[in-house]
Amino acid sequence: MIALIQKAAVLGAGTMGSRIAAHLVNAGLPVVLLDIPAAAPIAAQAVEALRKSKPAALFDPALAGRIVPGNFQDDMALVADCDWVIEAVTENLAIKQALFANVIPHLKPDAVLTTNTSGLPIASIAAGMPPEIRRRFFGTHFFNPPRYMRLVEIIATPETDPAAVEAVSAFTDLRLGKEVVFARDTPNFIANRIGLFTMLESVRLMQEEDVTIEEVDALTGTAIGWPRTGTFRLADLVGLDVMAHVASNFPERQLTMPPFIRTMLERRWLGDKTGQGFYRKDGDARLALDWKTLEYRPASKPNLPSLEMAKNAERLAERIRLLLQGDTRKDKAARFHWRLLEALWNYAADRLPEIADNAASVDRAMRAGFNWEMGPFEMWDAAGVRPTVERMQAASPVVERLLQAGGDAWYRANDRECFDPVTGAWREIPVAEGVARVASFRASNGVVCGNAGASLVDLGDGVACLELHSKKNAIGEDIVRLVSETLRADGDAVRNFAAFVIANDADNFSVGANLMQFLLAAQEGEWDEIDLAVRGFQRMTAAIKFCPRPVVAAPFSLCLGGGAEIAIHAARRQAHAELYMGLVESGVGLLPAGGGCKEMTLRALDGFDALRRAFETIAMAKASTSALEARRLGFLSDGDRITMNRERLLNDAKELALDIASAGYAPPAPRMDIPAPGESALATLKLGVRMMREGEYISDHDVKVANRVAHVLCGGKVTPGTPVSEQYLLDLEREAFLSLAGEKKTQERIAYTLKTGKPLRN
Ligand code: NAD
Repeated sequence: MIALIQKAAVLGAGTMGSRIAAHLVNAGLPVVLLDIPAAAPIAAQAVEALRKSKPAALFDPALAGRIVPGNFQDDMALVADCDWVIEAVTENLAIKQALFANVIPHLKPDAVLTTNTSGLPIASIAAGMPPEIRRRFFGTHFFNPPRYMRLVEIIATPETDPAAVEAVSAFTDLRLGKEVVFARDTPNFIANRIGLFTMLESVRLMQEEDVTIEEVDALTGTAIGWPRTGTFRLADLVGLDVMAHVASNFPERQLTMPPFIRTMLERRWLGDKTGQGFYRKDGDARLALDWKTLEYRPASKPNLPSLEMAKNAERLAERIRLLLQGDTRKDKAARFHWRLLEALWNYAADRLPEIADNAASVDRAMRAGFNWEMGPFEMWDAAGVRPTVERMQAASPVVERLLQAGGDAWYRANDRECFDPVTGAWREIPVAEGVARVASFRASNGVVCGNAGASLVDLGDGVACLELHSKKNAIGEDIVRLVSETLRADGDAVRNFAAFVIANDADNFSVGANLMQFLLAAQEGEWDEIDLAVRGFQRMTAAIKFCPRPVVAAPFSLCLGGGAEIAIHAARRQAHAELYMGLVESGVGLLPAGGGCKEMTLRALDGFDALRRAFETIAMAKASTSALEARRLGFLSDGDRITMNRERLLNDAKELALDIASAGYAPPAPRMDIPAPGESALATLKLGVRMMREGEYISDHDVKVANRVAHVLCGGKVTPGTPVSEQYLLDLEREAFLSLAGEKKTQERIAYTLKTGKPLRN
């Protein structure tokens, strides 16, 4: 039987322990957090620090109350009713073993015990334990910060009971929302082994090719699908000491930190935590280290023509091919990339099956643990395995085997199979049930219809997905058209499908309406066109709301403005836990006019307090920092559900849509009898706005926008309780929107936000 995990304990309240505890309470679990006894209680202080941590470790600061702090001396008995005990103390074998000896007598008979070590062999930690405990012991390697980094490596020993692993891996996937990758008990497991190799190789090439710190960061950043921080900015964030520690575990003797980095370690130039590392701040300016002299000088913007050229390619696969086409005799960037990728690919291939069953596990670990857009083998496939191997001086015997087996790529059959170095054949990649992306349905079932901004994709079982796929999923005319057409009561799609979901595979659900299209029209004074566009948007959200088939929206990450309006009009929402949702139009001097104000009024008919909260949410452009907060802000309602694992969001939304459909769905009828809050509520809200202005919290333009929002939410200056229709509120939205759109300050805000991505307070 698989153990049920209902309560956890974390031993060690440092960087990792406290944040793992935070994420466990995010998942709804009560947690005990213990550390060594000290005059100033370490665990209690860590819990307090969690409330204010940045980036936030908790979905809501109040969740800190569910962590019970204590110390190893007085409170060890608190672990007695915990189902999962996670050790995260100092990386030192003797310390860990002594702690385990201490805690084991307190464990309940079926409790699972794991370690978060990043480098100690799991078997050596287990060696000191009684055999009965060794069955319930293994490694769970979280990445920092655990709330945001998706990877958890699970490392079992030969003695571990598979049922214990199954219980923890299912919990880690479903409840903690993590990408579980099974790793072997080899030094640094998978992601750090490959990631640190890449870093050390970048440092070596930097010295051999004589390039600068900033150049390496540009070469090893978004250009090749790796985080913007590149190599050294990342090292400063992580801490050079942490990296050095991982590097010291490498079994390959030649893989060590070069002398200049050892000097940095001696001088404690460890990165952000000690104020300087590969970079240092000098007021507003950023200084970069000259690795030859160990002096800091102003950071310069790298001028690497091949990188500029590659920017033209939007897709990573194409970019990689372009970057590798450069002339390695003349272009040092091309040489750097070729040598780095050649080394990385061969190193990764040579590690199979030493560190992982197959290439797919390595790729998944690098995507989830290091935020690479593609793992090394996926990058290799993109570059072309055969031509790159032909270009290499020496290739790994593992890739030679792949070529001999007649293959051209690590993956095949629409990425469903990958090369198995042990059998020399391609094997199906196991995919957990419920993990799905729109792209795989596109490939298998095909696209029903679509345009540049959106597609209708058949998800099977009678459900279709409206997939947005414009740039940043900004909503333009094409998306509005496809959604409205699809959900028309008398249309083919509604006849042919039982339910719909609105979901996509991109980084964000939607950043909102396409402001660029809008600004151009406003600057040209094309008011009729804008009026038509707003009407079109309102018709689209009405189509979502009144569709005879249930529509489930699956918002995640950024879901702003028009994106939020799409989501709140759906019959239900299946939200990802990491949800940054808001009706943020006031930030650009506008208000929600796609039915956003109207829906918030409908959700706030309970009394003035509810109305005031809705008003503040819109007027102050509040966005949630989690799905939990989105619920508090009124964007999610009681019947809406939350998915922790992003990879499961699509399937969960589909299941929810099928549930509603099979229960006999009837769409709501447009309301004609909404009791308008009216003039008294409007006067009170406006008074609040005036006081904010007098306190100089807001600008004159903010006042104008806020008063317009209040006007719409209250249903205008009518006698309280006057029955109004949804259409009436939509008309108020549209009028207010058009009037604000004509304001110079609004247009300035939009132009500024388009340029900088930030709001302008004018
Ligand atoms: P940390 O130094 O922030 O915290 C370690 C905790 O252990 C401290 O709260 C300390 O009070 C406690 N401790 C110190 N001596 C002790 C002793 N003798 N007995 C019991 N507890 C003691 O360390 P961390 O970064 O949180 O790392 C914890 C574990 O997680 C290590 O095994 C580390 O390798 C691993 N890890 C760290 C990271 C990371 O990025 N920091 C990532 C993954 C895994």
